[in-house]
Amino acid sequence: MATLVMKFGGSLTADARGINRVAQVIMAESLAWDHLVVVISSMAGVTDALLQAVERASAHDGPGYRKIVANLRRKHVEAIETLIESEALRADLIEQIDRLLFDVLSVCDAAFSRREALPRDRDRAMAAGERMIVRILTALVRKEGLGAAAVDAASLIVTDERHQNANPMPDLIEDRVDQVLRPMIEANFVPLITGFIGATRTGAVTTLGRGGSDYTATLLASSLHADEVWIWTAVDGVMSADPALVPGARVIPVLSYDEVGELSYFGAHVIHTRAAEPLIAGGIPLRVRSPFNLDHAGTLIQAESADTASGLKAVTAIDGLYLTTTGHSVDLGEALARIHEIVGRTVAGPVMVTQSRDRLLFVLVVPTSEGPTAASSAALRLSVALGTEKWEVRVVKVIATMGMGGRQALSQLATTRIQPLLEAIGPEDRYLLAVSPADVQNVVRHLHEFTNQPSPTARISQRGTWPVR
Ligand code: ASP
Ligand code: MG
Repeated sequence: MATLVMKFGGSLTADARGINRVAQVIMAESLAWDHLVVVISSMAGVTDALLQAVERASAHDGPGYRKIVANLRRKHVEAIETLIESEALRADLIEQIDRLLFDVLSVCDAAFSRREALPRDRDRAMAAGERMIVRILTALVRKEGLGAAAVDAASLIVTDERHQNANPMPDLIEDRVDQVLRPMIEANFVPLITGFIGATRTGAVTTLGRGGSDYTATLLASSLHADEVWIWTAVDGVMSADPALVPGARVIPVLSYDEVGELSYFGAHVIHTRAAEPLIAGGIPLRVRSPFNLDHAGTLIQAESADTASGLKAVTAIDGLYLTTTGHSVDLGEALARIHEIVGRTVAGPVMVTQSRDRLLFVLVVPTSEGPTAASSAALRLSVALGTEKWEVRVVKVIATMGMGGRQALSQLATTRIQPLLEAIGPEDRYLLAVSPADVQNVVRHLHEFTNQPSPTARISQRGTWPVR
């Protein structure tokens, strides 16, 4: 019995056309596999908007948060009206969207009167994004004749209490999967599951960190002992650099679980940093591919890395904080403890440190799972709390190379006018640079010239739409 778990990113459900494409892919794959499980993330921009609504409410901006919620309603109602002809079905879906958004409003109202938003409020509001789109897509594929059911991951993904970046509990998840999900797929239903969302043992909604739907998919694949996981996204696969920075960026044909974990740790946006972890024990292959380019094999992620010829495989960039302090016998451990008190786990690392008798200098990274504005708000909070006489806090970009050849690439960098703030050589010939955000494009482009050409990808699957003939 062959089982496929597939996940669709928010860039694919950004509008009615994308949602339709996703529905087509689900229909096609449902014919090719014995069992199919689908994980969906919210329409592009929706999670950010929900978070913003809660922030506005806690800042006592009543009109602000109500406007955001009204815009979200309009966005989803528009999609429903474009995709669904039946009046009755439309009305039913709109009622469901309204119920979910009323819950968001009541979370915001509470934050408004408290003038404070708690992490669990943010989770409860942010969960609405996935809950809305899953209902719309389920209605759409059911209309096409598929036996599909909307499933809320709060009933499957049991996590600890760490709101906004919760840790899943694999044993409990496995029990839930056996009780809830397995009977459903054995009865030949295709579950459409909300990505990103979990719940504590007592039922409080949590989320798995930004981009967490990938992690939902791989956690479920592991519990189901699935044969493959496919992550569908708007780009053709995991790229050798961010294509927005480097027009010549290429798809990397094969990566190991470790390599993809490292790449996403250092800022590759394609998959959630922890998403590969659940696949390691069972060696379940993961493929990243695009529904707009079905002939492209995408990136295969598996246990073994491809043989590394000379040259770099990838160059990534991630937001970071560069901190310096002066004073006698400053202690790194104490400094980090203080920083975590101020900004919690918004920062990770340090990835680079240098210390002398009376000067300490280090660079932290801000994981992509913290969201796009986390670095600047962490920098602000740190400057205020640490004081600017002794401390300097700067937002930087941390650039990392993966693969052999970093030394050569870096020595060439010396011929340009760019002055990195700090450089380090890590394990496996990994080069790290902290640069000012204004320099990031130049540096990444320069280093990317030292990446190697990809070799053709081996085919992993005898099934499904890949490759299309
Ligand atoms: N919708 C969530 C986010 O924007 C989860 C995901 O996209 O995977 O972070
Ligand atoms: Mg993502």
